[in-house]
Amino acid sequence: MNPNDSDPIKLHPDVILAQSAALARHLQASGVAFLPQADVNVAKEMQQHFATPAAASVEADAIAPVRPSAPSQLPAQPANQQTTQQPAQSPPTQSPPTQSPPAIKTGASPPNRSASPPIVADTIEANYDGPSLGETDRMAKLNVLSESVAACTKCEQLAQCRTKTVFGEGSATPRFAFFGEGPGADEDRTGRPFVGKAGQLLTKMIEACTLRREDVYIFNTVKCRPPGNRNPDPSELTNCREYFEAQLAILRPEYIVCMGAISSQTLLNSKLSVGRLRGKFHRYFDSKVLVTYHPAYLLRNPDAKKAAWQDLQLMLRDSGIKT
Ligand code: URA
Ligand code: SF4
Repeated sequence: MNPNDSDPIKLHPDVILAQSAALARHLQASGVAFLPQADVNVAKEMQQHFATPAAASVEADAIAPVRPSAPSQLPAQPANQQTTQQPAQSPPTQSPPTQSPPAIKTGASPPNRSASPPIVADTIEANYDGPSLGETDRMAKLNVLSESVAACTKCEQLAQCRTKTVFGEGSATPRFAFFGEGPGADEDRTGRPFVGKAGQLLTKMIEACTLRREDVYIFNTVKCRPPGNRNPDPSELTNCREYFEAQLAILRPEYIVCMGAISSQTLLNSKLSVGRLRGKFHRYFDSKVLVTYHPAYLLRNPDAKKAAWQDLQLMLRDSGIKT
């Protein structure tokens, strides 16, 4: 902080903006609920405001509109799900690849004071690149991408072992995208995501949200089945990243539901467990990201279904589907 807090005129606008961005990142890393995405016009207005000496007497803390949104009511749950306590942690998994995240970071990092202005840079980074396409163009782009995936041999072992690549399926204009880990045996055989036992539970979860499978998009972090259903290794996650990033850039869903640690940690470039990441919104470009338990984990640990349903209800309330 500026040692001379009583004289905000001495604070350079870039420093104020950088400190606000750092505070927001810190609060988010500390587990504070969703922080609204900064609006580029508001940020510009703020910058002009602080650049004008006449207006510079405004208190510095007035520019940090950090208001976490708290859930307003206790969640209900679908009739077929249980009511016991949620676990604190997800099953252990390996670390994700170390690529830098494209959007607001989940870990605190020092503000970049050389960038001008840093919070606006964050905002620009948080937008998907280029125009949002119409449905026909999206479908055409997805088809081209799926052909690249079908021919991909970047992971030697996975490319040799797979029967079919599993690109993903669903609406090309989804509000909600469900993001899993990687194909299992049933998916590898059919070329479709989430069609086995875990898939059946996912379908029920989607329907409990009053949605249909065909209304949403369903896809995985890696497109080829890791043999023996092992976790994808970090190099495989890195190799396949370009495909799910391209899918998301085409689809631009309002919400991405990351199911399980692999998809959550990979998308958000975080090492935190599902237990730590869930219960709030994160951001990936223009999409809000919700982390919850993987359906396969829920099949093994039915007590966690209540927590997963709470996560989905958070999203349903936020999206206006549930009041
Ligand atoms: N588990 C996943 O993560 N993805 C699938 O497609 C199926 C099971
Ligand atoms: Fe290619 Fe992804 Fe399959 Fe690896 S997992 S071979 S990157 S499609």
